[in-house]
Amino acid sequence: MTAQNIQAWECIVCGYIHEGAAPPDECPLCGAPRSEFKPRRPSTPHLPAVGGPEGVRVAVLGAGIAGLAAVESIRSASPTAQVTLISEEQHLPYQRLNLTRYLANEIAENQLPIHPAQWYTQHHLQLLLGTKAARIDLGRRSIVLADGQTTAFDKLILATGATAAIPPIPGAAAENVRCLRTLDDAKAVLDWARPGARCVCIGGGILGLEAAGALARRGVEVALIEGQAWLLPRQLNERASRVLQKQVTGLGIRLYHSAGVARIAGEGRAREVLLQDGSSLPTDFVILATGVKPTTALAEQCGLTVNRGILVNDQLVTSDPNVLAAGDVAEHRGTVYGLWTVSQIQGHIAGLSALGGQVAFNGVPRSNFLKVLGVGLFSIGAIEPEGPEGRALEQETDSGYQRFVFRGGRLVGAILLGDTRSATAVKSAIERADDLGGLLQRRLPATAVLAHLEVQETGARRG
Ligand SMILES: Cc1cc2nc3c(=O)[nH]c(=O)nc-3n(C[C@H](O)[C@H](O)[C@H](O)COP(=O)(O)OP(=O)(O)OC[C@H]3O[C@@H](n4cnc5c(N)ncnc54)[C@H](O)[C@@H]3O)c2cc1C
Repeated sequence: MTAQNIQAWECIVCGYIHEGAAPPDECPLCGAPRSEFKPRRPSTPHLPAVGGPEGVRVAVLGAGIAGLAAVESIRSASPTAQVTLISEEQHLPYQRLNLTRYLANEIAENQLPIHPAQWYTQHHLQLLLGTKAARIDLGRRSIVLADGQTTAFDKLILATGATAAIPPIPGAAAENVRCLRTLDDAKAVLDWARPGARCVCIGGGILGLEAAGALARRGVEVALIEGQAWLLPRQLNERASRVLQKQVTGLGIRLYHSAGVARIAGEGRAREVLLQDGSSLPTDFVILATGVKPTTALAEQCGLTVNRGILVNDQLVTSDPNVLAAGDVAEHRGTVYGLWTVSQIQGHIAGLSALGGQVAFNGVPRSNFLKVLGVGLFSIGAIEPEGPEGRALEQETDSGYQRFVFRGGRLVGAILLGDTRSATAVKSAIERADDLGGLLQRRLPATAVLAHLEVQETGARRG
């Protein structure tokens, strides 16, 4: 095995990174076709010696995308590092973000694993599945597993991700109430999702919306409860949300806005969801999509500094110099991203950083892709203008809605709903902090701004 035989491809639309000999047929994150993938330039970490210290023992806790990206980059950089990847889940590391597509019957279970089992042996990676870590002993630099065995490390990468946040709703512990975080959750939900079955989905964020859309496509009668006044309040302004809402209700999903859940009723088994306004929604099962919280218990127990997530610096090192953290569990400059591509990027960086590479994560603008409802949605950065220098341009078209948010002539946020093909151009303009003050002074419509960004992007790609 050589360090070179792991090749990577980057989706130029959303930044998704695919490891393998060839790009995928379709981007699992934004649906972009194979032609939108370009070979990814190898990271150029300045390692103190090739691949870091000979035979360094790196333990990676959690085999989600952050943990997997960490071991990929460690192996790319070092043929000799002794790598152990520990996962509580029984399944080979899989595309968690595709669980809703699996639920919608768009992909089969055997398409979920990111690499086949032999990939781990070929790359001399020790993969411990179905193995829960119970404790971390920083003094002895070892992980104590739930069965009492220990794994020693020189460097530890914590990639324990996040778990569903369960709100204190009476009845939420009933047997037919489930969150959607793991493949086992998705399988349980599939058992209930017969055509004609009734489901109440609590939470109208991205996950709730995707889950509701997936179940509606299977013929389930879905009621979607959202506590806020409109859908996706973090990603969309009210006008964009109303455009999206048409798609949601078009799938037959009944939408309840500004609705609070009083309790889930039934004896051990949910039979109805009672809203605070007194209405009752009879149901066969309930999905809780009410947010996630970083899985920080082990980090707290061993004394690492934890706020909302485990605090990390730009090298993704925690308060202990031998311990790094990446993905949904990490908090970087006050942000816990909770996003696939960011977890993947952080995982790559943490892997290289653990070997002593001079690499840094400098933060990225928050962006989201949503495709499962058949409508393309790209939302990035600020969605409302702030302060006296803030300004927004928006336009509703037959094919959707576009909104651009500026601060001092620079684009700081955008929403593309419907046609998201220009997402790369928008993202690049935000990242380059292009000065678009001249365009704003000419009072051009949002479509003209978009056309300008596309021209800029084409020029940047050519040149
Ligand atoms: C259904 C769904 C759809 C999503 N869609 C999108 C999307 O469209 N776009 C987007 O950007 N993001 C999406 N996300 C979020 C995205 O999947 C996450 O941001 C990403 O998976 C986080 O990766 P991670 O590796 O940090 O953590 P995780 O994927 O949570 O992995 C952490 C792993 O660590 C394991 N672990 C935790 N504690 C222990 C322990 N003590 N011992 C052993 N193992 C342990 C866990 O079991 C888990 O397997 C979606 C998430 C879900 C659930």
